[in-house]
Amino acid sequence: MKTEKIPYKIYLEETEMPKSWYNLRADMQKKPAPLLNPANGKPMTAQELAGVFCDELIAQELDDTTPYFEIPEEIRDFYKMYRPSPLVRAYCLEEKLGTPAKIYYKFEGNNTSGSHKLNSAIAQAYYAKKQGLKGVTTETGAGQWGTALSMACSYFGLDCKVYMVKCSYEQKPFRREVMRTYGASVTPSPSMETEVGKKILLEHPDTTGSLGCAISEAVEKAVTSEGYRYVLGSVLNQVLLHQSVIGLETKAALDKYNIKPDIIIGCAGGGSNLGGLIAPFMGEKLRGEADYRIIAVEPASCPSFTRGVYAYDFCDTGMVCPLAKMYTLGSGFIPSANHAGGLRYHGMSSTLSELYHQGLMEATSVKQTDVFEAAEYFARVEGILPAPESSHAIRVAIDEALKCKETGEEKTIVFGLTGTGYFDMVAYEKFHEGKMSDYIPTDEELAAYRAKLPKVE
Ligand SMILES: *Cc1c(COP(=O)(O)O)cnc(C)c1O
Repeated sequence: MKTEKIPYKIYLEETEMPKSWYNLRADMQKKPAPLLNPANGKPMTAQELAGVFCDELIAQELDDTTPYFEIPEEIRDFYKMYRPSPLVRAYCLEEKLGTPAKIYYKFEGNNTSGSHKLNSAIAQAYYAKKQGLKGVTTETGAGQWGTALSMACSYFGLDCKVYMVKCSYEQKPFRREVMRTYGASVTPSPSMETEVGKKILLEHPDTTGSLGCAISEAVEKAVTSEGYRYVLGSVLNQVLLHQSVIGLETKAALDKYNIKPDIIIGCAGGGSNLGGLIAPFMGEKLRGEADYRIIAVEPASCPSFTRGVYAYDFCDTGMVCPLAKMYTLGSGFIPSANHAGGLRYHGMSSTLSELYHQGLMEATSVKQTDVFEAAEYFARVEGILPAPESSHAIRVAIDEALKCKETGEEKTIVFGLTGTGYFDMVAYEKFHEGKMSDYIPTDEELAAYRAKLPKVE
């Protein structure tokens, strides 16, 4: 244990990097509910999933008893190119806020894809390659996942086909070009390339697309193309497993200085970065070894935890995917077009949903103008230009630090800074020009989507 002043950045040596991922579900007494086959209402078997996903990823998806999965050496070697990611002590932010709180953030934006998504992309590409597949298909919303997957596929020599939500495709041409630089093909979704895309376009010709719809297209493309499988950048258990590298590194860095966080905060879209960040801490909590306050932060315009219901729902708009039990707004829910900050998925990881349902973590929602205010404040004080998604966590970390200022408590706050905002300048521009508004769905709107949830007992 070191006793000198805690440095601005706590790095780990290469030799201290995690050699295994941690599977949080192994320590849960009540497990997350299984994926169900919509055709017969029974839990999906590995065999049924095999047409959609890679075999080893299915094994990881369905395994809720094995606590540790060794990280293959090829993946660890790739991780070494951009990991360990720094754990930063936000001295400047603390001083500016005048808070006695001690604030740390784990920064995942130090790679070309600009976010934590590369941690799972490289793992998924590795298992696809190992299985001898030709390529993978996926969807991307804001573009970070597509970018990460393109990088991972080009590293292992796999074909990569990305369905990009149409409004992002148009708003973020540079994201698209980064993907093409890494050899991916990028199609705006909904498209005429798939049956489900055609159907959605017929019904809603002017739609700007949604994640749920792009997922349906990517899944259809995978199951109808020889040698292809579908991969997903969030929500699934396997993704949370890979992202546990974030939390394991964070914990190892904090342990070096014997720092014990009081509050851990992360933004929540599908739940992968948050699930990864909290994994080892939640593990201790589940085993009764320690206690932490854990806060998920979501947009007020897409509030699956705070205003959704805990129920079985489709993972996609086209209803081709298995049913997952999760906090959901309904698979037809599409956040308002003025919502800029990512985190627009209608549901939430089933693992996090179960933990939240058991009261082991909290959730809160924030308005996007408050999020961008925090983003800009943070950029000016700490230097890093944050992704809008990450800025949800910044907002709540600042609010918690300000509470400490009132009460004089010296709490230790850790939050996940999941990525950079370089490709989000259209959203920043709106904010700067005062054109950003907050749209919060009404109870009536949410009820209408909820009424369409599948009936599963
Ligand atoms: C995708 C993304 C998120 C949200 O996804 P989760 O699966 O909830 O982690 C958050 N931040 C950034 C920068 C992202 O790219």
